[in-house]
Order: sequence, then structure tokens, then C-alpha cells
Amino acid sequence: MAVTGLVTSIQRFSVHDGPGIRTTVFLKGCNLRCFWCHNPEALSPQPELELYLDRCIACEECFRQCPRGAHVRLDGERYFYRELCDGCGQCAETCFAQGLVLVGRRMTPDEVMDEIVPDCAFYLCEFGRRRDALGRRAALAA
Ligand code: SF4
Ligand code: SF4
Repeated sequence: MAVTGLVTSIQRFSVHDGPGIRTTVFLKGCNLRCFWCHNPEALSPQPELELYLDRCIACEECFRQCPRGAHVRLDGERYFYRELCDGCGQCAETCFAQGLVLVGRRMTPDEVMDEIVPDCAFYLCEFGRRRDALGRRAALAA
């Protein structure tokens, strides 16, 4: 059986938290609990559903799709019972408004590499530029 990981997101043109331009692969299941964590969606090792009410168009398709009854309307109010959700992603697949997003895509290392290796063309230029700059700095120091 192939090794897989749960990918939270693949971020291109990453320029923060380190030198140069990078493609960053974020994984779920971080076992640190930093006080300043900026990616809380990466803490759980399970897929999780994000709900964006500002995008929701109230079509109620997710109410019909969820096999566990996690989306309901009671007394005119919409509720999402997270404790009933098992992260199957069925509702997110049919949400036309992208009001529901499943965080955590199971991928093999090969699948990740297929997605990120095409970016190398851009980063090799960046690598060359940095190498030249370091070379010039070393020549000046000599
Ligand atoms: S399917 Fe999406 S747009 Fe429709 S009610 Fe659910 S969250 Fe809102
Ligand atoms: S991810 Fe699956 S279980 Fe969770 S709310 Fe959507 S359809 Fe229901």
C-alpha cells in the first residue's frame, strides 16, 4: 500500500518564513501546539470541513447531500454539527458557491511531486540569481 499524507494546501510563490521563492506543501497532523500557530487547520490528522457563511447562497444542497445529517435548519437558523461530520467531503463537492471546503487531500509523494516539479523552472532562475549574488559578494570580500 502506498504511503500517503493529508495535504492541507500547496502554496506557490511562497516568499515568507524563509529565503527565496518556494512552493510549500502544507500537511495535516502537526504535533506541535505553538502559541502563535497561524495554520490551525493543520493540527488535526483528519480531514476537516471549513464553512464560509459569507459565500453561502442558502441553496441547501449540503443538507440533502450529508449522509450524517450534520447540516440542518432549525427555526429558520442554519446549523452545522461538526461532531457528526466524518469529513467524507460529499457536501463540499456539491457546494457550487464554495461555501464548504474540505481541508485535507490524501496524496502519495508521487502525486505531490507531479504537482510541484513543474514549478522548478521558475525556482532554478531564482537559485541562479541567488548563486550569482553570493558569488559577487564572495569576490568583493576576497
Ligand atoms: S451547498 Fe454551499 S451554498 Fe448551498 S447551503 Fe450548503 S454551504 Fe450554502
Ligand atoms: S463532509 Fe460528509 S459528513 Fe461532513 S458535513 Fe459534509 S457530507 Fe456530512
